[in-house]
Amino acid sequence: MEKRIYNFSAGPAVLPEEVLLESQKDLFALPGVGMSILEISHRSKTFDAILQETKSNIKKLLDIPDDYSILFLQGGASLQFSMVPLNLMPPKNKADYILTGSWSKKAQKEAKRVGTVNVAATTEEGEGDKKYFKRIPKQSELKLDPDAAYVHFTSNNTIYGTQWQTEPLAGNVPLVCDASSDILHKKIDVTKYGLIYAGAQKNMGPSGVTLVIIRKDLLERSQDSLHTMLSYKIHAENDSLYNTPNTFGIYIINLVAKWLLNLGGLDKMYEINKKKAQLLYDCIDGSGGFFKGHSEKDSRSLMNITFNLATEELEKKLIDEATKAGFNGLKGHRSVGGLRASIYNAFPLKGVEDLVAFMKDFQKKNG
Ligand SMILES: *Cc1c(COP(=O)(O)O)cnc(C)c1O
Repeated sequence: MEKRIYNFSAGPAVLPEEVLLESQKDLFALPGVGMSILEISHRSKTFDAILQETKSNIKKLLDIPDDYSILFLQGGASLQFSMVPLNLMPPKNKADYILTGSWSKKAQKEAKRVGTVNVAATTEEGEGDKKYFKRIPKQSELKLDPDAAYVHFTSNNTIYGTQWQTEPLAGNVPLVCDASSDILHKKIDVTKYGLIYAGAQKNMGPSGVTLVIIRKDLLERSQDSLHTMLSYKIHAENDSLYNTPNTFGIYIINLVAKWLLNLGGLDKMYEINKKKAQLLYDCIDGSGGFFKGHSEKDSRSLMNITFNLATEELEKKLIDEATKAGFNGLKGHRSVGGLRASIYNAFPLKGVEDLVAFMKDFQKKNG
């Protein structure tokens, strides 16, 4: 079989090897079905069993109470930037947005088309085309409107490498979270949220399917005048089968969920994630300034580790040599530069250890 390399891509991203191998088998014929997962009807008993099992496994992993619906939609997290305000803003037509990166700004942009957006906080710094984010705001910085329809935040900022250590407190206002790049990386208290959405392709599966977890009372906000495919209520009433869902994507999410359950659940996953990130941050902090972390220490992400070297030439040299040595996808996002190591759930501890050894060796030769 073809050899696999270390994949630090920010998304679509690495998947567990066990999941890839199992899906490979099922791509010829599902056991007892004689057809592959790509070929069966979304209305078949076989697919319905997969759908129900996927929901049940996600529910188990996150302890999701019965008063939440679990949906699998399309259009990526980006369509949620529109669906959230279209469904949840009326009748108040005002919502709070906390801006911590490019994705929350994009979410805000769509919300403005629907109603009034109050920027509850922004941690953007810099001028002109040199603007950036490097931290998460403190609770005391948030200017929340107690009468807002909801509060929106982005739990992990994939591009800048910052992450909320705990979710913001929003009082009685429903909390809406874009968790695309850290969903399932640790256990969260779902009862604190009104709605959580996540594109699958970072931490959960392939691109083309988006998980939405929504408190059922919020479904009543979806107005009948909404286009059918944009209504959470319609998708919930039809158990994500109003139209043909991404059947293969849902199937892979189920395999990933089973992989997490076998591993020991999300507490165990969180332990491993902390260990992996610590190794890299220790290497950065212990380099005497050769490597410089981008984000402030109390805002650091466990999923996307962003850092710089003294010059762009040195950064390019490291990326080139790392790529040759089998470490792929380390180039930072174009808006931040430098390097970014995305080490989602499925990224192996051994890969982080090997990268750290590589970075130390690079420093010895170039420092
Ligand atoms: C990748 C990403 C998105 C965009 O996801 P699409 O599925 O491409 O629309 C949105 N939010 C966050 C936090 C992301 O990491």
